[in-house]
Amino acid sequence: MVNKLEYIIHGKSIVTMSKHGIIKNGAIVIEGEEIIDLGKYDEIKPKYSGYEVIDASNCIVLPGLINAHTHMAMSLLRGYADDLMLHEWLEKWIWPLESKMTSKDVYIGALLASIEAIKMGTTTVNTMYHYYPDYNEAKAIYETGLRGVISHVCFSWREKEDIERLDHLIRNWHGKDNWRIRAAISPHAPYTVSPEYMVKLREYADKINEKAEKDYEKAIWHIHLAETKDEAKKIEENFKVKIRGGIIEYLQSLNVLKEDVIAAHCVWLTEEDIKILSKNKVKVAHNPISNLKLASGISPIEKLLKNNIVVALGTDSACSNNLLDMFETMKIAALLQKGVLLNPTAIKAEEALKMATINGAKALSWESQIGSIEKGKKADLITIELQKPHLKPLFNEVSHIVYAVRSLDVRDVIINGKIIMENHQIKTVDEEWILREVEKVKDNLLERLHEGEAK
Ligand SMILES: [Zn+2]
Repeated sequence: MVNKLEYIIHGKSIVTMSKHGIIKNGAIVIEGEEIIDLGKYDEIKPKYSGYEVIDASNCIVLPGLINAHTHMAMSLLRGYADDLMLHEWLEKWIWPLESKMTSKDVYIGALLASIEAIKMGTTTVNTMYHYYPDYNEAKAIYETGLRGVISHVCFSWREKEDIERLDHLIRNWHGKDNWRIRAAISPHAPYTVSPEYMVKLREYADKINEKAEKDYEKAIWHIHLAETKDEAKKIEENFKVKIRGGIIEYLQSLNVLKEDVIAAHCVWLTEEDIKILSKNKVKVAHNPISNLKLASGISPIEKLLKNNIVVALGTDSACSNNLLDMFETMKIAALLQKGVLLNPTAIKAEEALKMATINGAKALSWESQIGSIEKGKKADLITIELQKPHLKPLFNEVSHIVYAVRSLDVRDVIINGKIIMENHQIKTVDEEWILREVEKVKDNLLERLHEGEAK
């Protein structure tokens, strides 16, 4: 890992996503983990003589993108099963193969997802998966230099085991590396977590968060909500409860919705549901590509934003996407609402970019440290090469970022002040080794699956 302690990034355009707007011919000064100054290059340079300069004068510099909902380890299953009905996809394909995954496989899958995310300009991920004490997603994210919130996904059928895993996750990872790594509590969904267990997991988070002094010291609550049309029916069947209104109303009746909740999907909402989300300051992670691919429906994002709800963007897992590409996600998020609402002014480029940066930070209770380029924030930055036919000419940086940039145009990635990728080369881990391991793990997984079938 390159460990420059003090340096300047000189960019053609710095898109700050803060009150500083876009700074042309700008510079950002980094010391240790933090941004200590920014402004016009000509003014910054003499103030910090002797600081090494990273030349990005042909690049846009942008806050690193934030993937607000994913399942990192599932990158191992990318392309294993597509174009199926949700229940068949899960029950016949995904779950049987997942049941053969070891903790080491989870770790390798998360390493793969981490380097994919970094190469595509993502600097923070919010991931939900099975946590194992020895090898896990947290270890992979930590080693690659990515920033992340790692959770353990909880189901009613394994309550006792879940609590042990959560205890281990919190003890070992929550706050690691000066809070680069955080933990979250993840009830999987209202149809897999009973009302009683839901309340218990709320109390579990509350107990941790009592002690939190800063926003990022919280263990957030990461859940799937209102993803498919039949969710209420599934809850009623599984837990013998009666759902009278919407899914959000049901959760509100359990008193579990607070401002530390990030709810993935929120596709099937009633008017009352939207009011409750807004009133309780629940954050929404919108996953347009996964929702389209699984034909779950289209979340009413435009309406949520009008109701002052923080909407962030996620890719969901590489099984239902099949990439962890936040540039593609921004573009589709914008296009989808325009198309559905027959309104080209719905979700403008600026709004889509906010969802992938500052709103992502807000959604993860991390706004004080990331999501924009400002003095005192952590240096999580990416540079985008502009010397390409598809990015010429340059009238408007934000338009390019959302509608024209391809994720592999990302040249450098800085996280927590460290250069994690320089000129497309990842510095922290051996990319070739990871790619080889992934193929081996895939072969072993298929072998174990077929062994099971022969018995
Ligand atoms: Zn998901």
